[in-house]
Amino acid sequence: MSRAYNFSAGPAMVPEAVLQQAQEELLDWQGSGMSVMEMSHRGKEYMSIATQAEADLRELMAIPENYKVLFLQGGASSQFAMVPLNLLGDKKTADYFNTGQWSKKAIAEAKRYCDVNLVASSEAENFCTIPDTANWNLNADAAYVHYTPNETIGGLEFQEIPEVGDVPLVADFSSTILSRPLDVSRYGIIYAGTQKNIGPAGMAVVIVREDLLGNAGDSTPAMFNYATHAKADSMYNTPPTYTWYFAGLVFKWLKQQGGLEAMAKINQGKAQALYNAIDTSDFYANPVDPRYRSWMNIPFTLADDGLNDTFLSEAKAANLVTLKGHRSVGGMRASIYNAMPEAGVQALIAFMKDFEQRKA
Ligand SMILES: *Cc1c(COP(=O)(O)O)cnc(C)c1O
Repeated sequence: MSRAYNFSAGPAMVPEAVLQQAQEELLDWQGSGMSVMEMSHRGKEYMSIATQAEADLRELMAIPENYKVLFLQGGASSQFAMVPLNLLGDKKTADYFNTGQWSKKAIAEAKRYCDVNLVASSEAENFCTIPDTANWNLNADAAYVHYTPNETIGGLEFQEIPEVGDVPLVADFSSTILSRPLDVSRYGIIYAGTQKNIGPAGMAVVIVREDLLGNAGDSTPAMFNYATHAKADSMYNTPPTYTWYFAGLVFKWLKQQGGLEAMAKINQGKAQALYNAIDTSDFYANPVDPRYRSWMNIPFTLADDGLNDTFLSEAKAANLVTLKGHRSVGGMRASIYNAMPEAGVQALIAFMKDFEQRKA
């Protein structure tokens, strides 16, 4: 068996050591005589798994005491609705940054519930940059400010936390959570779908400041109310037990790697190596403003679009898979989350150089 270097944007690679551990435990979790996926979520064994996963995530991200961590179904997309449903309260308007396809989806969903004030948009620049702070149009009366720290499709990433005053800051960290240390205390809510930088699909991790709980209107479905899940420690109904367990294995793995400081070094190194290979070639190009290039998702084009299919099929033969770019951007995209080994990035760079030499 040979495992491929999989550059998929999501679901994406998970650490091989974690897959192996899950395999070893699949039929019989630690002498319980059953698989984790067969356990009652209210049983002693599963409760220990769930509690440990939360404790490890709290330690990794240094999550302050006054934040709840929720493990919810519905992926990141449900959060596009849960955020306005839970945070608007009596307010009628919320602030949104529009920096790419995922921002746009969040904005479209919010518009069902409130007026959306665009703080800044880079749509006219094809989402290749982040507008200057001087041109931000923040509304002090907004219920919250929402942004997408890493635009998975465009490969655009905020390198600093936006300064938004006293209005709660809400961030969709789906594709960059756990890639480096983060000052959680700057946020009202951090949320992330799990299938990119955490583990399997089917869950969102939501980190919410406690004072923001309890403001959903009466017509908000119980399942869409953060307070419901906070009160029940994410066990109001049956949570995605296996994904939660698996996320816990990934959190342990991250701690073994040296935590988020260590991951930041590795991730920055991987991204720099790939951008360097792109920038020093006349054959490959990345369109994103170098100040805001993503560490996690790196789109690139070939000088001749007509070579795209050949590039993809030869890459696949070299065990480098899922490099096709998103249809809205074209070209290629290499997603290099925590679980992509440095050797995978080096193999991609070597392949790109060889391809250029033969085809340019
Ligand atoms: C993938 C992605 C989503 C959507 O996640 P789902 O879990 O499929 O709903 C939302 N935001 C960002 C930034 C993403 O990368």
